[in-house]
Amino acid sequence: MLEIIRIPVLSDNYIWLVHEAESGETMVVDPAVAEPVLAEADRRGWKITQIWNTHWHPDHTGGNAAIKDATGCLITGPAAEQERIPTLDRLVKEGDTVKLGEVIAEVIDVPAHTAGHIAFYIPSENVAFVGDTLFAMGCGRLFEGTAEQMYDNMRKLESLPDNTKVYCAHEYTQSNGEYALVAEPDNFALKERMAEVLTLRARGEPTVPTTIKLERATNPFMRAATVEELAARRTAKDNF
Ligand code: ZN
Ligand code: FE
Repeated sequence: MLEIIRIPVLSDNYIWLVHEAESGETMVVDPAVAEPVLAEADRRGWKITQIWNTHWHPDHTGGNAAIKDATGCLITGPAAEQERIPTLDRLVKEGDTVKLGEVIAEVIDVPAHTAGHIAFYIPSENVAFVGDTLFAMGCGRLFEGTAEQMYDNMRKLESLPDNTKVYCAHEYTQSNGEYALVAEPDNFALKERMAEVLTLRARGEPTVPTTIKLERATNPFMRAATVEELAARRTAKDNF
């Protein structure tokens, strides 16, 4: 059983601190910064043993070096980004697995937001860490890839079980939802969800994790029927 703690940092980033009780291992997903992560682990009496990076962007890797200095942890990340994430100890790609204690995560290649972006899927826990590829009602911008790649990514992620909890790296849900309502004005599930999101955000509460089931019903990028539709929606959202 994993314990997963949300650490909000910068303007809208979420760092996930993940503890596996049996082994005592503690892992950090995408540490933008080090201080609040080290403080939270300290407060809980957890020793950080690993970092898992989804992609090279500084708001996902900026804390790597300082956390490693403080803890001696092992850093795992995308094989394709060895040069852009110089702190990596272990390089992984689709087909590889990573362990936290005895808990096994499968690596999924999801290029498009960045060329080497990966996601970590843990079947035994129904958990996926997706970085900046899939957001609640949104997807990552296409900085280093194509709409076709993002379309393929959506197919991979929507094939995960309904009840998979999706831990993305930003609280973008409200602005994503505002665009989603424009893309799919007749989607009732989307309207319902947006009402809940507005209530949560008004109270300052998070809307992440989401689930694969909820994204299938409300995410205009996962729901785009063709590559062209996804491309058009991504461009529209960029200019929204
Ligand atoms: Zn990013
Ligand atoms: Fe990011």
